[in-house]
Amino acid sequence: MKNKGTIFTNVQLSDGTTTNITVSGEMISYVGKDIDSSLDVVDCSGLIALSGFVDLHTHLREPGFEQSETILTGSRAAAKGGFTCVHPMANTNPVADNSAVVEQVFALGHSAGYVQVQPIGAVTANLEGKNLADLGKMNASAAKVNVFSDDGKCVSDSLVMRRALEYVKAFDGVIAQHAQDPQLTVNAQMNESALSLKLGLTGWPAVAEEAIIARDVLLTEEVGSRLHVCHVSTKGSVEVIRWAKSRGINVTAEVTPHHLILTEDLVSSYNPIYKVNPPLRSQEDVLALRMAVADGTIDIVATDHAPHTADNKDCEWGEAAFGMIGLETAAAIVKTTLIDSGLINWSRFEELLSANPASISRINNQGQKIEQGSFANIVFFDPKSEFVVDAATESKSSNNPYIGMKLSGSVVHTLFRGAFTVKDSQVQEIGNTNAH
Ligand SMILES: [Zn+2]
Repeated sequence: MKNKGTIFTNVQLSDGTTTNITVSGEMISYVGKDIDSSLDVVDCSGLIALSGFVDLHTHLREPGFEQSETILTGSRAAAKGGFTCVHPMANTNPVADNSAVVEQVFALGHSAGYVQVQPIGAVTANLEGKNLADLGKMNASAAKVNVFSDDGKCVSDSLVMRRALEYVKAFDGVIAQHAQDPQLTVNAQMNESALSLKLGLTGWPAVAEEAIIARDVLLTEEVGSRLHVCHVSTKGSVEVIRWAKSRGINVTAEVTPHHLILTEDLVSSYNPIYKVNPPLRSQEDVLALRMAVADGTIDIVATDHAPHTADNKDCEWGEAAFGMIGLETAAAIVKTTLIDSGLINWSRFEELLSANPASISRINNQGQKIEQGSFANIVFFDPKSEFVVDAATESKSSNNPYIGMKLSGSVVHTLFRGAFTVKDSQVQEIGNTNAH
């Protein structure tokens, strides 16, 4: 007998109301008090339903680095973390700087079936920072790329950055900049501070990030285009972005979960699990970033999930790769640092993790309000659960800096287009019949 649908009862929405949500097929067919008893019932007492999370900054490593992650394993980790859409960065091998590669990534995401995989295209050919990639063709491709980034590298040449901003303006695309002046960060290993001197590690000055952001917001104003700043990590960057927004410059900004909770002090252990780009900063920076999320200067939280094999992480600090995994812990970190401290409410939480990233990427079937007629991309979140992070992960990599930390808030169910990708905190096995 064909399933008419499922009703999720006694669930709280981000505005605080308690209601029932009926899902039929891929859609939300009803939100309200009435209960159709012929439907399957899932009791969601104590849970909050939020629009499925959208990650604007993910590394899925495929094609080319499948020993660290694949689109399938990364998609499973994303679903486990409550995501229904991820944006994999272009620094794969081959680089996603043309329609063939972005269409391949898009198709592999569709086959995996756990989340919408919406590829980011490179800004420059082979991430070399010299010649623009085929931005228009990637936008017009089946992958409909709207976000472009050389992430991992900065588009440091001012003329190339200006041209990129001009080019994407034609189709309302956005340049997502990894703000790092390469000349100021040669061999940089950690935040430049008293601690970097003490530890004897080459410092990574805040100004290397802030100067690029300042230049880019001015270029964006000049061109009248759209800029997104990846992984903002310093107090000064926040001040530059706040100033730019006050001038009406079309800039959005993201912060990662790790920059909201971890500080440079952890580097004293010389444990490369804490080696990340941009580096962990001071407690003062962390507090400034939290305030910037609360006051709207920072628009979204994005994971910068960066899986690496043990070979690339279990080695000396200087040899280790930059990056940490983060899809499965992101929501709990935002909840622990921002909700539990009273800085934000659940509506803001939903904006940060869902509506705003979807809007920056101009995808209209994600980040929708939970209401009749929306796609059933929903995460059911338990705000009361407290847990100690363990090593278990859906990712192919285990570079998780949070093991042993106590966090609060966990994903109980994730629905992607009406289907459970996660049920009772377990990732479901999906046979995607629509796979191509
Ligand atoms: Zn980056």
